[in-house]
Amino acid sequence: MMAAVVVPSECVMSEKLVIGNWKMNGSAKLVDEFSASKFPGNVIVAVPFPFLAYAKSIEPTLKLAAQDCSTLDGFGAHTGEVSAAMLKEVGCEAVILGHSERRKSYSTDTPQNILLKLENVTRNGMTAVLCVDEEYEKLLDAETLALVKEHPDSIILAYEPLSAIGTGAAMTPSGISTTLQALRTKCQGIRTLYGGSVTPQNAEGILSLPEVSGVLVGGASLKLEAFRAIAEKAGAV
Ligand code: PEP
Repeated sequence: MMAAVVVPSECVMSEKLVIGNWKMNGSAKLVDEFSASKFPGNVIVAVPFPFLAYAKSIEPTLKLAAQDCSTLDGFGAHTGEVSAAMLKEVGCEAVILGHSERRKSYSTDTPQNILLKLENVTRNGMTAVLCVDEEYEKLLDAETLALVKEHPDSIILAYEPLSAIGTGAAMTPSGISTTLQALRTKCQGIRTLYGGSVTPQNAEGILSLPEVSGVLVGGASLKLEAFRAIAEKAGAV
């Protein structure tokens, strides 16, 4: 009989994470396609709110993230709001917070409100993926830093430079390394993702950087084969 292979826990911990952010895109048909595809490695798909429960019901093993949540938690008379408690109930593992597209378009996505959302996500036992850009100092104020330091296992920083989101021009690997290292120092070793024009072509170079705990993928996460290719690269580095 062959001896059982023992996987050290640090190997599991260091598995690179791939999160697909569909933004306001996709359909039930695309959910069907992704659900039927068994992704290698540690993959999470952030589908729009209406598809979360559907995706979980047809493929319970597909890991899901929401793209935002309310500053309010629990349940109540708050028309149009979706709470972290509800996202937990439908099976979300993670919630993306503070994406620059939201911070740019909605004046309510202030650092104070993002902090409330972070608290709600961690209180409900999910992972918060806090997006920051070149001006990360604005979001990482003293209170947010204290919360991040309190929850090193359930808050991840995603560094997404504005110059790279949706532009086709990803940051250079050396630029990514330097910035993520600075963020890790500031946030005492927190896990750090890179996001911004990640493609199957540049994924390996980015994912193989030691400071990169994973990638947040926008445009390429809408094409099953491209997204699968990135997940495969993540599993191989
Ligand atoms: C994003 O908006 O989170 C993102 C990373 O987009 P893209 O991959 O399309 O640059």
